[in-house]
Amino acid sequence: RLCYFNGSVMPVEKASVNIEDRGYQFGDGVYEVIRVYHGKPFAMRRHLMRLSRSLKAIRMDFPDLEQSLHKVAEQLIRDGKIEHGYVYLQVTRGAAPRDHLFPLAPLPPVLSATITPCPLRTPEQFEQGGKAVILSDDRWLHCNIKSLNLLPNVLAKDEARRRGADEAVLARDLHTVTEGASSNVFIVRDGIVFTHPDGPLILPGITKEIVLEIAGELNITVCQQPFTVGQLRQADEVFITDTIHEVHPIVAMDGIKIGDGAAGPVARALQNAFTEYWHDTIAG
Ligand code: PLP
Repeated sequence: RLCYFNGSVMPVEKASVNIEDRGYQFGDGVYEVIRVYHGKPFAMRRHLMRLSRSLKAIRMDFPDLEQSLHKVAEQLIRDGKIEHGYVYLQVTRGAAPRDHLFPLAPLPPVLSATITPCPLRTPEQFEQGGKAVILSDDRWLHCNIKSLNLLPNVLAKDEARRRGADEAVLARDLHTVTEGASSNVFIVRDGIVFTHPDGPLILPGITKEIVLEIAGELNITVCQQPFTVGQLRQADEVFITDTIHEVHPIVAMDGIKIGDGAAGPVARALQNAFTEYWHDTIAG
């Protein structure tokens, strides 16, 4: 597999990180995951805008962000000969002798990227859906920053796996549902879609953003308002969105069926329109 590091593309094994990189020692950095369809990055501008907001939130400057990261992604896709996959982009504050305080004079940021092949989603995967469990959302209160500090998310995913599920749905005080360990969460009740509003408690997902636009075009009513674990368990449909899974039904929660335990019509309509959307954007 190929990566981008220190200005060039090389095999992943050839890249070596300075052990005093602040990303390595403090998780002092941010990242993005961008889907590649038919050899083209999807929704790149939206991802770079979010990256730029994350950088600003951690008080980092990255001059020429958009242009240089576009180039990195395109070079990786070309050299890796990737048809369908995803690019992981990471920016850290740089390397310096370990100290919580970062130097006042900015360090050169360290940019790295990998590319991973990933087949297109199949209708079978959609229809099969996934299982989730509810876990306590014990993360910090800046979840809108796509930060490298993912320990709570990593542990939540492991706990989900231990309980035989694919995703952890996180809820503050086990009451208000925020998002998944690596996805945004939606419920459908009487044809109306509910999802947690953007803000410090969730990551503003790019897939969520696009799905909300699509829902508007399909005349599906969406309420961006918090909902409870109880409302989620009683929902007609539950689905998650993220860059890798697009729109993905959750058919069981804590081992109990959601609705009739199958992919639902609202999620299906949104997934179909999402596929059409990326086809159109890539072609255009
Ligand atoms: N929420 C969290 C915590 C995530 O890690 C992710 C993506 O990995 C998402 C939401 C979905 O974001 P996106 O649609 O931009 O992939």
